[in-house]
Amino acid sequence: MTTQIEKNEKAEVTKYFNGTGFDRWNRIYSESNDVNKVQKNIRIGHKKTVDDVLNWLQEDKNIKVKSFCDAGCGVGSLSIPLAKLGAKSIYLSDISEAMVDETRRRANEAGLDLNKMSFQVSDLENLKGTFNVVICLDVFIHYPQREAEEMVKHLCHLSDERLIVSFAPYTPLLALLKSIGQLFPGPSKTTRAYTLKESGIVEAAKQSGFKVVRSKLNQAPFYFSKLIEFTKC
Ligand code: SAH
Repeated sequence: MTTQIEKNEKAEVTKYFNGTGFDRWNRIYSESNDVNKVQKNIRIGHKKTVDDVLNWLQEDKNIKVKSFCDAGCGVGSLSIPLAKLGAKSIYLSDISEAMVDETRRRANEAGLDLNKMSFQVSDLENLKGTFNVVICLDVFIHYPQREAEEMVKHLCHLSDERLIVSFAPYTPLLALLKSIGQLFPGPSKTTRAYTLKESGIVEAAKQSGFKVVRSKLNQAPFYFSKLIEFTKC
């Protein structure tokens, strides 16, 4: 990797998601009633993203022989239902140990076969291996444009079939909302939140031999996420 997020910034993100950020996002990504209106809306928006990915993945009738990498897995909102669908193997990683521990706990509680799931505390930069499908949802909010594009190239390297990513898209309206604090009230409280130009993300994937299959913008108040599926050419 040639371009990396600044060390200090990454350390802040790690600290946040092992501390107050863990509490906050663990509640948002659950069915807990202990959420405010903003958090409830983020939950609704995020669920749309996860549901779309699960629907897209199920179009492949060979899911049971496919390997998956859930990069920046959070509490396993995607991987747990994916494991229930019978994915052959899932490699889950997150920069936050608290997140990875919670994913393992939820997988165990759901009665899943933990032998098919590999849990790693790791940042995206240090991910290695090859997988049929690489998925990275709502993690790029922590990556500036250039670093996100480098990361797309890295993730393309790890995938031999499909890459699915989602990120907060840059639009003038979102930029305005962000500047007046109406958007991303969560991450921006303690970590910076970046919106990304879709054209740069698509171009980075193209340069790595991947092309767009489809894309969708998922929204709810306080949640904007562009979901893109790429396939290897
Ligand atoms: N993909 C999950 C979680 C999204 S929340 C989902 O959609 O449900 C963002 C997650 O990214 C957090 O769990 C955070 O710890 C993780 N993260 C942030 N920066 C990261 C990095 N550089 N490498 C790996 N994970 C990171």
